[in-house]
Amino acid sequence: MTTAQTPELDVQPTPLALLLLGREADPKSERGVECPGDLPSPSDPDLVERARAAKEKLGDKVFVLGHHYQRDEVIQFADVTGDSFKLARDAAARPEAEYIVFCGVHFMAESADILTSADQKVVLPDLAAGCSMADMATAEQVAECWDVLTEAGVAEQVVPVSYMNSSADIKAFTGKHGGTICTSSNAKRALDWAFEQGEPSTTKVLFLPDQHLGRNTAVRDMGMSLDDCVVYNPHKPNGGLTAEQLRAARMILWRGHCSVHGRFSLDSVNDVRARIPGVNVLVHPECKHEVVAAADYVGSTEYIIKALEAAPAGSKWAIGTELNLVRRLANRFAPEGKEIVFLDKTVCFCSTMNRIDLPHLVWALESLAEGNLVNRIEVDQETEAFAKLALERMLALP
Ligand code: SF4
Repeated sequence: MTTAQTPELDVQPTPLALLLLGREADPKSERGVECPGDLPSPSDPDLVERARAAKEKLGDKVFVLGHHYQRDEVIQFADVTGDSFKLARDAAARPEAEYIVFCGVHFMAESADILTSADQKVVLPDLAAGCSMADMATAEQVAECWDVLTEAGVAEQVVPVSYMNSSADIKAFTGKHGGTICTSSNAKRALDWAFEQGEPSTTKVLFLPDQHLGRNTAVRDMGMSLDDCVVYNPHKPNGGLTAEQLRAARMILWRGHCSVHGRFSLDSVNDVRARIPGVNVLVHPECKHEVVAAADYVGSTEYIIKALEAAPAGSKWAIGTELNLVRRLANRFAPEGKEIVFLDKTVCFCSTMNRIDLPHLVWALESLAEGNLVNRIEVDQETEAFAKLALERMLALP
């Protein structure tokens, strides 16, 4: 990797104007749609009771999914918790549920809509709950990137691999171009599969939209070097790369990142080691490469939970992932004598995940109980067909 390709935060503006969260309308993006109707006040002392009553009234007609990064006040009403892919599959396994209320973010609700039957309706309690990472790769930008790869004469050797944390449009692009989706748990298997799709010495992967997961998997799990990776910057002409760089690369990483995991730094790791002697540092692979390289363990949210379940009493852990989950795990394992702290000293919630709060959940459940379908997330048929193809390739991974 050249110095110009050093991993860094993408601070450039996206081509979409930022809308105030929850205000105005931009239904094609991951952010910014007004919530129709009146939300209950956050100070309403009856919110818990109202959520319980509405859920009870809906019975088996509703299935509430809670992503690991959701607030406790919301998680208490989840029928099942998990990462985005597990939740989408859980929803598909409950065909009797007419309404799937997804307490997570927009791309997750899209994936649930793709994987559930046409009769099931997916609801996102606040349409402003988007994902900044997913918004870093738009359909137009990715189509332009493919033109750049075609002009450089490499498109035929490129297999796209897109992280689950991407819009339905990007998943459809991936399906259309012979690629697969991956999660943070199966990224290595997805890359192995991609390199088997052509002549291994010339095949390349276009990894979207999280440069860090792509780089960490290629270098840490597959033995590639940093020089095998280049970063395609959609804000620069030709992605900021020459045709020669594209031809030499094995991994073409999209310049996207998670705003939450991208905040952890090497200093966070060094600080916590100095503060807590003997601490085990466990981080998510969406963290920057230098953080992952300095950590003791690296894995998805499901991996993090299992590692802490298996940890011996008296062990100490610093966790590099979203704060709601870390706090919940710290409280859960404290009685077992496991000391769990957040890796960074500063607060690091996912602000869009936190958009889903009890007032929005109550509003969505009560609306459904009254027969009003609100905030439905529906992917159009053509996009769904190609996105499903990419998701099915992932399901078929060995
Ligand atoms: S934690 Fe990161 S990847 Fe997940 S929803 Fe928030 S911004 Fe997106």
